[in-house]
Amino acid sequence: MMPRQLREGLRRHPKGSRAPRLIVEQLPSIDVKDLHAPSRYNRTHVIDLSFRLPKVASAKVSATSVTFHHASLHRGQLGPTQTFQLKPIRTGFGIRHTFLCNCGRSVKRLYYHSRDLGCRRCINAIYACQAIDQRQRPILQLSKLESLLGDKAYRRYRRIRERLEKKLGHKAMLAKPLQK
Ligand SMILES: [Zn+2]
Repeated sequence: MMPRQLREGLRRHPKGSRAPRLIVEQLPSIDVKDLHAPSRYNRTHVIDLSFRLPKVASAKVSATSVTFHHASLHRGQLGPTQTFQLKPIRTGFGIRHTFLCNCGRSVKRLYYHSRDLGCRRCINAIYACQAIDQRQRPILQLSKLESLLGDKAYRRYRRIRERLEKKLGHKAMLAKPLQK
């Protein structure tokens, strides 16, 4: 018999009635490392992020904060900006940073969705492995592997690939590289 909670949940939100959740791996994102934040306090620099975040023109980075300049909606007008504090973390070799998201979480990566940057919880995204069931999970593993591989590192992952293919059989054909 179906558990009461599940029955109740399905009654309130029948299958397919809600928009699918956003998938972390499919969202454009920026790692704090890519900002190359200066370690000195009086330094700032501007970097072009258009290759990582197509809708974000640039970012102004200092040792303590970053301001993202979103692409403008109208020609001749400046787009909106979004500022995040950077939290320095002292490591044995120097300083590493994290973003301080508006929700108070300290995160290494921010995700872009509908003209907004935020941590994965603020964007309300889930990992691909959370969105699928047990039978499909190995296909996902293989898909991830494909996108990691490119052409270069193929030999390094050959064993893992073979193992997954053996486990999956014909289903391995379904694996596709994830959007990067
Ligand atoms: Zn957040």
